[in-house]
Amino acid sequence: MLDLPDARDRMVEVQLSRRGIHDREVLEAMREVPREAFVAPGFEEFAYEDGPLPIAEGQTISQPYIVALMIEMAEIGPGDHVLEVGTGSGYAAAVMSRIVERVYTIERHAGLAETARQRFEELGYDNIEVRTGDGTKGWPDAAPFDAILVAAGGPGAPLALQEQLDVGGRLVIPVGDEPHDQRLLKVTRTGAATYSEEDFGGVRFVPLIGEQGWPESGSRTADRRSGPARTRSLPEMIAAAAEPLPDFDDPAFGELFDRFGDRRVVLLGEASHGTSEFYRARAATTRRLIEKHGFTIVAVEADWPDAAAIDRHVRHRPSRADADPPFQRFPTWMWRNTDVAAFVDWMRQHNERIRISSRLAGFYGLDIYNMSGSIGAVLQYLDRVDPQAAKIARERYGCLTPWQHEPSTYGRVALTSGYEKCEQAVLEQCRELLAKQLDYAQQDGVDFLDATQNARLIASAERYYRIMYYGGAQSWNLRDTHMFETLEHLLEARGPNAKAVVWAHNSHIGDARYTEMGIVRDEVNIGQLCRQRFGDEAALIGLSTHSGTVAAASDWDSEMEIKRVRPSHSDSFERLCHDCGVSRFLLDIKRDDDLRERLLERRLERFIGVIYRPETELRSHYAAAFLAQQFDAFVWFDETVAVTPLGPEHMGAGVPDTYPFGL
Ligand code: SAM
Repeated sequence: MLDLPDARDRMVEVQLSRRGIHDREVLEAMREVPREAFVAPGFEEFAYEDGPLPIAEGQTISQPYIVALMIEMAEIGPGDHVLEVGTGSGYAAAVMSRIVERVYTIERHAGLAETARQRFEELGYDNIEVRTGDGTKGWPDAAPFDAILVAAGGPGAPLALQEQLDVGGRLVIPVGDEPHDQRLLKVTRTGAATYSEEDFGGVRFVPLIGEQGWPESGSRTADRRSGPARTRSLPEMIAAAAEPLPDFDDPAFGELFDRFGDRRVVLLGEASHGTSEFYRARAATTRRLIEKHGFTIVAVEADWPDAAAIDRHVRHRPSRADADPPFQRFPTWMWRNTDVAAFVDWMRQHNERIRISSRLAGFYGLDIYNMSGSIGAVLQYLDRVDPQAAKIARERYGCLTPWQHEPSTYGRVALTSGYEKCEQAVLEQCRELLAKQLDYAQQDGVDFLDATQNARLIASAERYYRIMYYGGAQSWNLRDTHMFETLEHLLEARGPNAKAVVWAHNSHIGDARYTEMGIVRDEVNIGQLCRQRFGDEAALIGLSTHSGTVAAASDWDSEMEIKRVRPSHSDSFERLCHDCGVSRFLLDIKRDDDLRERLLERRLERFIGVIYRPETELRSHYAAAFLAQQFDAFVWFDETVAVTPLGPEHMGAGVPDTYPFGL
């Protein structure tokens, strides 16, 4: 059961304080008001997530941060009289009522105004007056106000509101030429007829509809449609927004993704680890991003040392003398399959054409697994560049080796046998390696990145396997944080303008804050961390399917099987996409405001990993999510087929070069 007061405290700390809200009264008021009492029934567990939520009448309760920011901007204090335009759920008015003497709030929808009034009464907040009407005209009989907050975006700051400010009073309002795209302005009345203005940056609010706002049917998006938004079903809206995808080999496929070409990081997901279309779509997109938009990093959800073997191949570097063929551990089909082999082959050919080493495209693993491979790589590297250091490292790593082929056992042992000694040694090894960066980098820049990354991985992996013993969010968070940090190191190593494509499962790519992972289990993922770090310079793209076949196992370490994917659940996003009737498409969620608003709904989403258990599908493979916030775009293939694992039959002509996979 979620602890709501605890979640509220965390919201104040993580979403507000850490983002720069410092007004103590605002923070205290946000800590006091139970946001769960203002969300729609059934949404209580999501009340403290970092985003707006849908309420009745197609409106939203604003993101906690925006509520706090606007109140802080308005500089309200005890004794003040404040007007709010756009009561909505009543949450912002309730927060302000904890600080000021009296709050007047106007809502154009009578139903919302009435619900808000009842909420105030139940909570005993008796210094708030609610009225139904057009708030762009203000509340003349209660004016002047010390502050006016407008919670919807208008084409300008209504004159009536400016006139109802006291001298020294502040009007905070989102203003923009487009109904859904605004700048947050603060207008201060400096004298009887003088005003000053400050701009606090871009925001997105629902439109301010009224005499001094937008006309009721006047938004451009509303004009464009054949009928009012609510009369169209969601599948119809998806069909209208869907951009059909051509064949994977058609250059037009990649061109559809040109819109993401200026991003620093493009993250491409997948709804299973065994579906051919997901690999082929990512390959076609990545080829375009590399060829036309200067991306040089392909970072995948794979072990670093195994991916490094592929990287050597694609960058025409000699393979390691004693290296085992990569990707031999379960689940082998995830990277040893014909689609990956074809893409690797393309990368090698591409690099042959390019030749300039700084522009060669590299293939990197982000994952934390394969401790033994990592240790081997570090030792081999040190053997070559610093045999003395290698000798010491062997001793240090010695205390890890008894368990390194069974890392999960190590987790258990670590609990009882003073692992700290080991952890220290590993960290020391990592530090030493880093300290020698300059020396080694001069000798061999590329190998240094490889060896350093391996040392970092060992340091994290040791903790990972220890934490894994306990289970829970900690091990997931350690893994995804490691993946994110690896990505950061790669970007750093490839220079200030480096750009990366990431291939990982939707559960890693889609912003965890908008799925059960983050909301219920406190898990973070690489998509969320990328958004927090890179903002709009990161594009999070999910891929999914309705039915078909998939390569997956029934248990960890068991045989791969080709399984039938059950048709998607009736309450899922996948079903909406299936019902839209377009067989394969790109859905650019951010381009269509109406669709995005409708997709703010919470629905089920399917996650198939390397294990698929159709018998218990609903319980084991579906989780709740808010798709419109989880991803920036969504790629859909209605019917999909399983990947083809690489086998001995792929030796020889007529198939992609299987060399790096060691067949
Ligand atoms: N402050 C609200 C909260 O905390 O839940 C969020 C408000 S929501 C983002 C914006 C609200 O403004 C919607 O409920 C919408 O109906 C309302 N609105 C839009 N134009 C309005 C107008 N001219 N007068 C009053 N309310 C308006």
